Amino acid sequence: MKTLGYYNGKISELEEMQVPMLDRACYFGDGIYDTALACNHKVFAIDVHLDRFFDNAKLLDFNMPITKEEMKTLLLDLVNKVDDPDLFVYWQASRGTALRSHIYPEDMIANIWVMIWPKKLQDKEKTLRLVSKEDTRKRHNHIKTINLLPAVQYATNAYRSGYDESVLYRNNKVSEGSSSNISILKDGIFYTAPCDENILPGIIRKYLLQACHYHKIPVVEEAFSLEDLKNADEIIISSSTRLCLRAHELDEKPAGGKDIETFKKLQDYIFDKFYEACK
Ligand code: PMP
Repeated sequence: MKTLGYYNGKISELEEMQVPMLDRACYFGDGIYDTALACNHKVFAIDVHLDRFFDNAKLLDFNMPITKEEMKTLLLDLVNKVDDPDLFVYWQASRGTALRSHIYPEDMIANIWVMIWPKKLQDKEKTLRLVSKEDTRKRHNHIKTINLLPAVQYATNAYRSGYDESVLYRNNKVSEGSSSNISILKDGIFYTAPCDENILPGIIRKYLLQACHYHKIPVVEEAFSLEDLKNADEIIISSSTRLCLRAHELDEKPAGGKDIETFKKLQDYIFDKFYEACK
């Protein structure tokens, strides 16, 4: 073979391989991977790579269908099926296959992918051009990417402990929910975090601002603290799938419920818009 693709036991040239649309890697980035080079059909440092791979599987609560030893045997076997002796070897596990839901069942079995193609180690005399950049890899919450692994973990852990949503914060400032925007009402004022890189600019958040405007409720677009959240008259959770709901509990203590009248005005505005549009 010139190249090799492997998916849960099926083997073919890479271009011929297809993965199911419902594989969670496709829509959540819910997977882990590792890569190594092979030279003369031997995978360099394979045991160390597999240790890391299986450590990651454990960290992310994957049910692996294969042991570390079996994976090693599989990789070495696959590497030997490719004609070229010098290879790039990539392997991946995705959490499993199911209809899209952040929450995954405990018995979901991981899918195993392998991709192999020819690659030679570059000349060691080569020297490199560099450019420096601030590390912002964990600060792109404003982009609706499909790399939702942290959201998946938050949602599943919350669900398994009987919570409906996780409120995320950094440096004691609330950013948003794991799959929603969080706003509060306090003394008749609507507070919501500003649309910067810390939050997704939610569509329903936008409707909430419209609703405030309509009902002449003052708005402050500033990040609020966990303390503010705790002391809020109402905590409002908004998203396209839930529209707009209020919380009654935060961290095992009663929360909100002190300005239901204002909350209802906002909620009715959004639900009315929804039903109007769906007539
Ligand atoms: N923040 C995050 C992280 C989300 O996943 C969502 C849901 N898509 C929201 C906010 C709410 O956005 P929207 O109102 O557009 O659904």
